[in-house]
Amino acid sequence: MDGNNKSLGDLSTNFWKKEFRCPCKKCRRKKVRVSEFLLFKLEMLRMALGNKPIIINSGNRCPEYNASIGGYPSSAHIIGLAADVRVKGIKPIDIGLAAEKIGGLRIGIARTYVHLDVRPPSPSKFWIYENNIIYSAKIENNDLLKFYQIIKGKEGE
Ligand SMILES: [Zn+2]
Ligand SMILES: [Zn+2]
Repeated sequence: MDGNNKSLGDLSTNFWKKEFRCPCKKCRRKKVRVSEFLLFKLEMLRMALGNKPIIINSGNRCPEYNASIGGYPSSAHIIGLAADVRVKGIKPIDIGLAAEKIGGLRIGIARTYVHLDVRPPSPSKFWIYENNIIYSAKIENNDLLKFYQIIKGKEGE
């Protein structure tokens, strides 16, 4: 479907339930529920990134699967408010910066993907995942790039 603008997903224009399904065996027939607001933001993000396909690394998770991969017990993935995404040829920080511009998203930058969710920005709006450490920006922090550079700078010390 790459590059095909006529594609029509069963969740939104470019997204499909199968992409968001919890990957565990138990959830194979479970209903996939994804926030309309999140889908709207993801469609906007896709546009902002030149209409390149957004690959969903992780969408829905049942509590058991979420625990098995070390997710937060109250992860937004459990209630369909989150997606871990990547885009071929675009660095996670650049995906994050585009998401920041769109607004209304909590953004976690990892090495190979970006966590996005539509929970209210509390306790924080930005995270950086780095070598198994989660750096969480203060709620007042409204500059992802600056925060990213500070964390990256710390790494190099
Ligand atoms: Zn599951
Ligand atoms: Zn995530």
